[in-house]
This record gives sequence, C-alpha cells and structure tokens, in this order.
Amino acid sequence: MGAKILRGDLIAGRILSALGARAAALERKRGYPPALAILRIGDNPASRAYARNQIRIYESRGISVRVAELGSKSTERAALKVLDRLTGDPRVDGVIVHTPLPPAVRFDALIARLPPEKDVEGLTLRNYGMLYYAKTLQELKSKDVFVPPTAQAILMLLRASGTKLAGAAAVVVGRSGIVGRPAAHLLSCANATVTLCHSKTANLARYLRQADIVVCAAGRPRSIKGSDLKKGCTVIDAGTSYVGAKLRGDADAESVRNAARAIAPVPGGVGPLTTAMLLANLLNAAERR
Ligand code: NAP
Repeated sequence: MGAKILRGDLIAGRILSALGARAAALERKRGYPPALAILRIGDNPASRAYARNQIRIYESRGISVRVAELGSKSTERAALKVLDRLTGDPRVDGVIVHTPLPPAVRFDALIARLPPEKDVEGLTLRNYGMLYYAKTLQELKSKDVFVPPTAQAILMLLRASGTKLAGAAAVVVGRSGIVGRPAAHLLSCANATVTLCHSKTANLARYLRQADIVVCAAGRPRSIKGSDLKKGCTVIDAGTSYVGAKLRGDADAESVRNAARAIAPVPGGVGPLTTAMLLANLLNAAERR
C-alpha cells in the first residue's frame, strides 16, 4: 500500500486565508498594511524565482512586499547600508535576507545587523539563542521568539500526519542552521529522540533503518531510498533541488512511498507551509509593534 501524502499546500492555503484576515484587521487598525522587506544580492535564478513567488503569495493576502536588489559585485558595506535602510523603515515589520550571497558579503554580518524584533526568520542571536534555551514546546510557546519557518513547517506536517512524536526515534539528514538544526531541536522539544546526520555521517542507512521519523534536509535529490527506511516510518522531505526544470526532493519518491506510512512530498509539502509560517512570524512581529 502506498504512503499517505501530506499535502502541505492544502494546509498552507487554509492558514494563509486566516492570516490574510489578520493582515486586513491590522491594516484597518493602523492605516497601512503589514510589510515584509527582502534583501537580494546577486543574480541567482532560484533566489529571484523565490522572491517572485513570495511577492505573489503575500501581496494576494494584503501584505506589502519590498524587494531591495543589489548586483553580484556589491560590497558588504553597501549591503549593510541597504539593510539598515530597510530595518530602519518604521513601516517595515520584518526583513529577510535571501541566500546564496556573493563571496564578498557574509551572511553572518548581515544577520548580526538585523534587529531581533524584525528578524522573522529567527536567525539573530537573540531569537536563535532563545530557541535553543527552550527544552520543551511549552517553554518555547511561552517565549517571545521567532522560530525559523521551515522548522515550524516540518513540525506542523508531522502533527498533521498523526505520527506520535514523544518517544519516537527521529533522524534529521542535514545540519544547517536554517533547516536541519532547528528542525532537530523542535523534534527534541516535542520529546522525540533525535539523531542529526550530515555529509560526514558514516553509514547513514544504519540510522535511517532505526528511524520512526525521517526529515530530509540535505539538498541531495533522490538520495533517500525506500530500501534504507524502517517500514511504516514518516518522511518529511524539506530538500528542494532543480534537476533540469523539475523540482525534486531528497527522497526517492517512488521507493519511499512503498516503505513509508506517510510522506510530505516535493513539491507541495514543506515549501508552501514554510511560506505560511514566515507570514505568521511577520504578523506576530507587526502585532507586537
Ligand atoms: P545546506 O546549508 O547546504 O546544508 C545541507 C546539509 O546537508 C549539510 O549539513 C550537509 O552536511 C548535509 N549533507 C549534504 N550532503 C549530504 C549527504 N550526502 N548525506 C548526509 N548529509 C548531507 O542547505 P540548507 O540551506 O539546509 O537546505 C537544505 C535543503 O533544504 C536544500 O535542498 C534547500 O533548497 C532546502 N530548503 C527548503 C526550504 C523549504 O521551505 N522547503 C527552505 C530552506 C531550504 P555538512 O554539514 O557536513 O556539510
């Protein structure tokens, strides 16, 4: 029997409708719409497409989106100046920086300059530190902290799948600060026992075979095969890579569907929910102000 498909796009549609109503109420109250600013540097086509997609989705929900674009030869100093202008604008509620960046511009330097109250991707030291201080989801909820949207999306899909998290063995493949690491931390906060794997993990399949939950966040298309999984596990695929014109996840969809109980596919799984969770963070930022 094939795995249940976890339709992140359908869940995201419902969440976005509710968030759109919140955005409209906020605009009525303060006289201008909630606003997201995006800093893009260089000519990466995936980043450009991502920005176009964010503009289309957010504007259709009553959010004002400003994109500041700098050329690939831009210096870090110039980038910081533009970032300061965006964060200093009183009508901007949240600011995000798209990656990849050109070599002359350090991501860390830009993030260090973001005011935590406009850091809607949850990457500044304050938000990130508060996230890791929390030991349980209850503790996290009680704090005034922005959690990285992709990690939130992964947890939401797991909940939608009905998978029991407390006591489950979870494997996260990929340990980046933006996806894998915060996803692993949220799973630990939900009382799963988490193994965080990466490119130097020896014999990844050994860990996969034990896992009730597998989160794919390596960006290696079709690298996770059904034959390496425990029968009946839940797979949340956060990987997104273009293979030719096709968007592919890290899971080898066909073989994984035969082994897993449920799978969040690519496209239509984590991606749309990440978009919705970023908007939720933005509205929280706007309402707090
Ligand atoms: P990243 O910074 O490049 O990190 C990739 C991680 O995967 C690293 O920790 C790396 O290990 C690990 N890795 C690479 N090859 C591996 C292998 N063969 N076996 C095990 N681990 C391996 O990427 P990222 O920013 O975290 O993004 C990961 C994926 O998620 C990408 O496909 C990206 O496009 C996607 N993404 C999706 C969303 C969404 O909303 N759906 C949002 C953000 C990112 P090392 O640490 O040892 O190098």
